[in-house]
Amino acid sequence: MESEDKMIAINGEIPSAINRVHDVLREPVSASRLNAFHSCRLKFYFRYILKLRKSVGAALHVGKSVHAALQEWSKRRWHSKPSESEDLRDGFNNHWISLQAEDPVDFEPGEESVEQSKAWGLVEMYLRDTPIPAAEKPVAVEVAVDRDLAVHGLPVLRGVIDLIRPGGIRPGGKIVDFKTTAVTPNEPQAEHRNQLQLTAYGLLYREATGEKESGFELHHLVKTKAPKLVITTHDPVDGKQESKLFRSIESYVDGVQREDWVASPGLQCVACEFFNECKGGAM
Ligand code: SF4
Repeated sequence: MESEDKMIAINGEIPSAINRVHDVLREPVSASRLNAFHSCRLKFYFRYILKLRKSVGAALHVGKSVHAALQEWSKRRWHSKPSESEDLRDGFNNHWISLQAEDPVDFEPGEESVEQSKAWGLVEMYLRDTPIPAAEKPVAVEVAVDRDLAVHGLPVLRGVIDLIRPGGIRPGGKIVDFKTTAVTPNEPQAEHRNQLQLTAYGLLYREATGEKESGFELHHLVKTKAPKLVITTHDPVDGKQESKLFRSIESYVDGVQREDWVASPGLQCVACEFFNECKGGAM
């Protein structure tokens, strides 16, 4: 019964979805939007075309809260302010609440305090184990950059880079992205899974600075029983990766224009917020 109701509600929104397709095609494209489209086009349809709002899972909320704390840590170092864990704790607690106001979270009874404590444990672990010296001043923090790809017949590429470190002995800054994950990553897998994002950030860095990045670091905060930090390092973007990103954007534009919302059932369905709508046969 619930599925049928949902289906009717969704079908009722389809006329306005036609306008949304045109809007989406005019909007900048980001690595997360590309990944959403290529991982499951139906999920993309629910999220970006119908704009269905859903409560998020605890794991996503933990990731966002940890990310906000590390952003605060980087900004404090940027402004030469104290950046020890006690300087971040109140901000972390505030973010934990304010992020729920933006995106409600589906906590099981009794789950929230456990997850909040785990999330703070990840932040403390990072501050203890990070290879970034407290005195190192960031080159840039949370920098938003656009690059117009009209010359390639593509939309504007947009990204927000977590942190740029000094490149050390190599010219160009080192691009850092923070990840929270339940699984310990290795370098080839991390590179493969994050290639679109790394390539996009490399091209955006070049657009903003006029120079080539010295490389990338992915700082993975792993949610094992005893949390740990795994850092994978990646070379600057090469021509092949740039070409793959452009093919991926072309495929995205083509798919959205054709309104190709084919579902891709798989392991990702376990964590999909649109499982009920999908199961109900909205499309
Ligand atoms: S449940 Fe699976 S197939 Fe359906 S929209 Fe979500 S990810 Fe796609």
